[in-house]
Amino acid sequence: MTRKSVRAIFPGSFDPITNGHLDVIERGTKLFDELVVAVGRSPIKNPLFTPEERIEMITELTADMPGVSVESFDGLTVEYAAQTKADVILRGLRSLTDVQYEFKLAMTNRAVTGIETIFIMTSEQYGFTSSTLIREVASLGGNISNLVPKNVHDRLRQRLNKKASSK
Ligand code: ADP
Repeated sequence: MTRKSVRAIFPGSFDPITNGHLDVIERGTKLFDELVVAVGRSPIKNPLFTPEERIEMITELTADMPGVSVESFDGLTVEYAAQTKADVILRGLRSLTDVQYEFKLAMTNRAVTGIETIFIMTSEQYGFTSSTLIREVASLGGNISNLVPKNVHDRLRQRLNKKASSK
């Protein structure tokens, strides 16, 4: 029997991408034939990087991963999923708080277009890793080198140095 090829999208803000996201992407490549990391362009609270910068960092990190591509999208995730003929939405889960939020989101998305959401549980070491916390800790000078890839760490340092020198 031939198996249908499965195309998943992994939507998020990725401001910036963290080791937690990267772990979900790496594990996702084993489940799906195609995995599109989809960077949302909708405005977020206190953004640090532009969508283009976020895409650039993710592209550098996923260049050698088979079946992985990086795109950006405006507006509703389900509309983007339908336009790009995605079979499933991939999301990551860290905590019960994530479950509560993601459960509602997945139910709504399925009610609107019928698309299924598949979840990958975080690896223990990244259970507390979030882009928001990384932006906050980095801006206060904390060491986040274990939580983000090197290219992101370098860009964070550059960005925050620039911000500090323009004050
Ligand atoms: P959004 O603003 O859409 O939640 P994020 O970039 O914060 O976008 O996250 C994208 C997805 O990655 C979400 O499903 C989120 O739960 C998941 N995620 C974020 N950090 C981790 C992590 N450390 N481990 C597993 N999943 C994660």
